[in-house]
Amino acid sequence: MHVIVLGSGLLGVSSAYYLSKMGHQVTVVDRQATPAAETSFANGGQISVSHAEPWANPSAPLKVLKWLGQEDAPLLFRLRADMRQWLWGLQFLRECTPGRTRHNIEQIVRLGTYSRTMLQELREATGIHYDQRTQGILHFYTSEKEFEAALAPAEQMRELGCDRQVVSADEAVRLEPALASVRHMLAGATYTAEDESGDANRFARELVKLCEGQGVRFLMSHTVTALRQAGGSLDHIEATDSEGRFQRLRADAYVLAMGSFSPMYAAALGLSLPIYPAKGYSVTLPVKDASKAYQVSLTDDEYKLVFSRLTGPNGDRLRIAGTAELNGYDRDLNWVRCEAIVRRVEQLFPGAGHLDQASFWTGLRPATPSNVPLIGRSRMANL
Ligand SMILES: Cc1cc2nc3c(=O)[nH]c(=O)nc-3n(C[C@H](O)[C@H](O)[C@H](O)COP(=O)(O)OP(=O)(O)OC[C@H]3O[C@@H](n4cnc5c(N)ncnc54)[C@H](O)[C@@H]3O)c2cc1C
Repeated sequence: MHVIVLGSGLLGVSSAYYLSKMGHQVTVVDRQATPAAETSFANGGQISVSHAEPWANPSAPLKVLKWLGQEDAPLLFRLRADMRQWLWGLQFLRECTPGRTRHNIEQIVRLGTYSRTMLQELREATGIHYDQRTQGILHFYTSEKEFEAALAPAEQMRELGCDRQVVSADEAVRLEPALASVRHMLAGATYTAEDESGDANRFARELVKLCEGQGVRFLMSHTVTALRQAGGSLDHIEATDSEGRFQRLRADAYVLAMGSFSPMYAAALGLSLPIYPAKGYSVTLPVKDASKAYQVSLTDDEYKLVFSRLTGPNGDRLRIAGTAELNGYDRDLNWVRCEAIVRRVEQLFPGAGHLDQASFWTGLRPATPSNVPLIGRSRMANL
């Protein structure tokens, strides 16, 4: 079967790899000149099954209200005259009940565990390298109240097979000695030894090479302009190439993996995808003093930041990422938010990174109200 995959982010490239392994002929289409150049470019690098508690949970509505208008808030709704944003917000509220939260944790843990296993098998089978580390993820809390609130979800995750262990502040420092200077701030932590980290962009680029080796065709610098249906199925894709030439692309089946942009194209097919862009930030710094830099991938609960150490051909780097801003498709860097991240890094790991060489980035997470991704066959049998 010929399958067209729309989008060459982590999702598109992974889909292409597995489809071609299954024996299909695969073509990937993307508007960028290189793969994984949008949201999959500089993310937090965590492979975190343990990060399964959705943004929508019983404590979220009050927090979101408190954070409204606060420039450096971890989760910031910038209310706009945008029907899609308001609809998404209402769906988000519906996911905040204890029952929905438990249900969504279960979906996310099951999918995350499966995905992590597949990643480990892929690594084993291909020897792919992407600055990976398999030292687990340590999620630390600087508030007693938030630490207490994390115990029940952590227990639920353990019941589902994700071994997220509760550890004391001392144990957290033993696991990651770079936290020693802020030991007095720690209320406690959880540690998931099986979780991992790595450079998502390098992973995608390496996987593209493996895909090409299997005969997958990449049509880069091709912008999808429309999906056209006929007789209840997806008939063809319309696109323009880098010189603006019109193209009509046809296949037996299609995978829609254009991240935050997928809903616009799906709408023309009568499919309503509850995806809204949640802008996040990342900062990447070269390591200055290795003895002060963390090794284990970390999650800072208070600031909703994740920390990964990426060591490979591009050097020894600290990647810090997080925060979510629901403000349409704008990707501008807001310096208040950038500086808040840098201040936190310096507070937790003074002297570890070259702050003067920091590179800042924003990306649009394709966020669903429940954080559960949309995977599977659509109402169109071939999409
Ligand atoms: C700051 C930040 C930190 C994050 N940290 C983590 C983390 O630690 N761990 C984790 O698991 N996830 C993390 N994420 C989320 C993760 O990065 C995303 O879920 C993932 O990158 C999404 O991949 P994707 O393939 O769905 O989308 P994308 O990477 O956005 O890919 C979509 C592709 O579609 C293409 N496209 C769009 N429109 C068109 C068009 N009209 N025509 C042709 N091509 C088009 C784009 O060029 C792009 O290449 C983070 C995200 C952000 C923003």
